[in-house]
Amino acid sequence: MFPRVRMRRLRGLKLVRETRLSCDDLILPLFVDENLDGKKTEKRPINSMPGQFRFSVEGAVKEVAEARSLGVKSVLLFGIPAQAKKDEGGSEAFNSEGVVQRTVRRLKSGSEGEGRGVVVATDLCLCEYTTHGHCGLVEAEAGAERGKGRVLNDATLEVLGEVAVSQAEAGADIVAPSGMMDGMVKAVRERLDDAGFSNTAIMSYSAKYNSALYGPFREAANSGYQFGDRSGYQMDFSNAREALREVELDISEGADIVMVKPALFYLDIISKVRERFDLPLAAYSVSGEYAMISAAAEQGYLNRAEVVLEGLTAMKRAGADLIISYFAKEVAETLSRPRQ
Ligand SMILES: [Zn+2]
Repeated sequence: MFPRVRMRRLRGLKLVRETRLSCDDLILPLFVDENLDGKKTEKRPINSMPGQFRFSVEGAVKEVAEARSLGVKSVLLFGIPAQAKKDEGGSEAFNSEGVVQRTVRRLKSGSEGEGRGVVVATDLCLCEYTTHGHCGLVEAEAGAERGKGRVLNDATLEVLGEVAVSQAEAGADIVAPSGMMDGMVKAVRERLDDAGFSNTAIMSYSAKYNSALYGPFREAANSGYQFGDRSGYQMDFSNAREALREVELDISEGADIVMVKPALFYLDIISKVRERFDLPLAAYSVSGEYAMISAAAEQGYLNRAEVVLEGLTAMKRAGADLIISYFAKEVAETLSRPRQ
């Protein structure tokens, strides 16, 4: 008891700091845009995410090299196919010459200084590749009823398996199914194993909430949907126990890494998952989190570097092992500077 106990004795001593954010924890998401193929420009700004870009394949290679030089060792790739290649079934997602597949091969065969050695994860979904923009196949003759967005679960699993194999063939270290289809991890694991890719890891978007914070991403990835919404597959933000069931199922289906998305509004979910399960846990700090902090910092309302460091450290403190963040490069720079 006070006065013998004085909490202030150790306050501020780095020696007793409980959580340390490290460059090793960071994964940088990148958008590779086939529409920039053959254009002079290697990157195009994303308006809703100032400071973020869509890259051509070569632009992405340069960006990965730069991130790596700052200490970021992992990236998560999203592909944006040429507009004309989108179809109802998202078949471009498993084209071996697709934009993601080409980028992975380029990264994996690149020289030192081009990002060789970087851990490459690939987003595994159909929404960037379908004309309707949903994460799976949609009932064909639903007509006007399609407004309700009936995404076919089991038929989608077949396609996801195909996409996973094509990404693994290209050299992806980790595939990351993000569509919240039931059974997706099992389907992907089976197809990968059958095709001889038993060492390709699966990072599952296990608890992905139907969040308004994804708004800027849809501009970034050109993946807004034409009808309905995603409440038929993404989780209701009111639910926490359901997230634990989702994670448990993904683990039983063979996930190597589980994920909670978004991050900052969902620290309680990260914490609950951490308490219950022992798998590596990723937190995806989403486009809306990036946009909010960027906008406030732009206005001078917040100190960008300080808020970013605090936010990402909070995700780790809550229990995340891996943090997927658009701030990865700049926080890596902050971490490399000596601080108090
Ligand atoms: Zn999707």
